[in-house]
Amino acid sequence: MERWYRGGLRFACTECGACCTGGAGYTWVGEADAARLAAQRGLSLDAFGRRYLRRVGERYALLEDRRTGDCVFLERGRCSVYAARPAQCRAYPFWPRNLASREAWNAAARECEGIRDDAPLIPAERIRTYRTQ
Ligand code: SF4
Ligand code: SF4
Repeated sequence: MERWYRGGLRFACTECGACCTGGAGYTWVGEADAARLAAQRGLSLDAFGRRYLRRVGERYALLEDRRTGDCVFLERGRCSVYAARPAQCRAYPFWPRNLASREAWNAAARECEGIRDDAPLIPAERIRTYRTQ
């Protein structure tokens, strides 16, 4: 099936932090994510896990503020671990639900200021989705 975004999509992250807060959710952390983040924080993997992760079934997710929904790494509205952020964060907004249709992408643009007409064009072949399920 031909993708509706075969001509690419315009996006450039402004690091505004809007996707790092809000309603309850999960920022999944895989082994490679944990190793990268632990190194960035100068912690052992165990110490990193105790301090920043919660177990959800068989997986791990970053802690978040229960009241605000802020990710544990959101500081003064910005990601404090941006270069080492998890794959799920790197893939945003190219998540399957946002790529499902042009309407879904336009809806995502209302929450993500990096999706805008004057942003660089990301070719379709460079758009890789991240599946959280
Ligand atoms: S909402 Fe969009 S522009 Fe803002 S930090 Fe998230 S991905 Fe970047
Ligand atoms: S790790 Fe960084 S980019 Fe990912 S949700 Fe937390 S603050 Fe946002």
